[in-house]
Amino acid sequence: MLSLRSSGLFSLIDSLWPPLIPPKVHGQSQGSQEHVDLSTDMFLPAPSFCYILTPLPGEGGVDVLQNESVSDLYQPSTLHDLKHICQHVPERHRCSFSAEVIYRRLQGQPANLQMNKDFWLCVTDSTLQSASHDSEVPRTISVCVTLFCVLGTNVIKSLNDEASSNISFKNAIVEKDSIVCAEGTVLSVQKSMLRSNENQEISPLNGNFILDKLSAKTKLNSLCTVQGTVVGVDESTAFSWIVCNRCENGKLEKKHGEGELLYCRQCAQSVMTPLTKMQLEVFLQYPVLPHSTVKIKLQEQSILSLLLHSSSDEGGYEMSSVLGQELGPLSCYVRSVTNQPASWIGLEEIRLLS
Ligand SMILES: [Zn+2]
Repeated sequence: MLSLRSSGLFSLIDSLWPPLIPPKVHGQSQGSQEHVDLSTDMFLPAPSFCYILTPLPGEGGVDVLQNESVSDLYQPSTLHDLKHICQHVPERHRCSFSAEVIYRRLQGQPANLQMNKDFWLCVTDSTLQSASHDSEVPRTISVCVTLFCVLGTNVIKSLNDEASSNISFKNAIVEKDSIVCAEGTVLSVQKSMLRSNENQEISPLNGNFILDKLSAKTKLNSLCTVQGTVVGVDESTAFSWIVCNRCENGKLEKKHGEGELLYCRQCAQSVMTPLTKMQLEVFLQYPVLPHSTVKIKLQEQSILSLLLHSSSDEGGYEMSSVLGQELGPLSCYVRSVTNQPASWIGLEEIRLLS
């Protein structure tokens, strides 16, 4: 007999078992029903099968019945705060929580969340942001939203928003360094009550989120802050280009016969005042990790502040004058962590949603 268990699916069944009322067992009389009552139902194994409902191709979606009473055979998932989940929920178990999404990492299409790839969200809540914070617990948690997690249109809209959003995650899976949204995980948009309800005993989030400092414990795809001295410039990454001041499209065309005038095909207009974009990656000396190479891709504002103190000539900026300057604290996303053959940490400066 072929025995194939989908671990994601069965961790979901396990999280819903046992139900609120003892289930009836087929083939047993009412008299023997007591064998599965409160005193013994713990011995009843969780079902080893389940049905997956999916719409037929071309039939649209599955309708969710609103205001229907929920069966007692269903054990509703319990909401926990993120600190509780970090400390008490074992790996590969399901958990449910609501959290503030303060950063999203979308690969490829930064301007528009597309649902054709896994992507990362960084979330936090008031228990991770509190002043009396346990240093063993992270300030933010990385959530991987896989292709198996079906997202509703209002969730997609909210995640595409420029502001941070409060999202409820139901039946997500705890993994080693992150939380994973897979089959059976349901995301929904919450009213941001942590901010508006002042009577709540947990402190409201005010938008000034605290991140962990970069350390030897910092994980891939997480957030951290870093502060250090510039000790090198990756010259191969240093360049600037001009974009349309309306749509930031970088593919501007020279219009023939009109001098130096540039034209944006996306806006179908001439670009009178193009914007200059810059890219630069520098190496930081970071006292906490003296033996690690820390490379950081900077945002434009940080590049400009470095260049402000540099000499420039017609040919561009003198990169050596950037060396020795102090940077930070900067909020960063961890793009790579390597320990062999040497410790190397690749960061990208980011702006948190607020
Ligand atoms: Zn344009």
